[in-house]
Amino acid sequence: MNHYKGACFCHSVQFELDLKNLDLTVCHCSMCRKLTGSTGFASLEAGESVHFTTTDGLSILHTSDFGERGFCNKCGTSLFYRFKASNEYFVPPAIIAELPEDKVNFVEEIFYDNKPCYYAFSNDTIKKDEAYFQ
Ligand SMILES: [Zn+2]
Ligand SMILES: [Zn+2]
Repeated sequence: MNHYKGACFCHSVQFELDLKNLDLTVCHCSMCRKLTGSTGFASLEAGESVHFTTTDGLSILHTSDFGERGFCNKCGTSLFYRFKASNEYFVPPAIIAELPEDKVNFVEEIFYDNKPCYYAFSNDTIKKDEAYFQ
């Protein structure tokens, strides 16, 4: 029921995962915006369940003492954020196949005070500033 398959744009990275829930979080920090080239990093919680079935294009970027990012080195798709210590994965909904989008709840925006003023989502979300995580 909560088991899904996913892939990057060019399918050089393919994986399976179990989602903990369908609660979506977007991080607005400058690192997430820069690494995705977008308005933040949107993700669903997959815990330790991510299992890669094809890793031809998988590259890992260590971005802090506690976290790393996965991306496809052939097509550039952002694949995940992973907490190294706990091995917990956070995966963008856009790369998960057959996700029931009507059941996804956009619940939370984090590093909200890092968000540039030129965009804002209209969803009714919980907003947490950078200080919340310190
Ligand atoms: Zn790819
Ligand atoms: Zn971030």
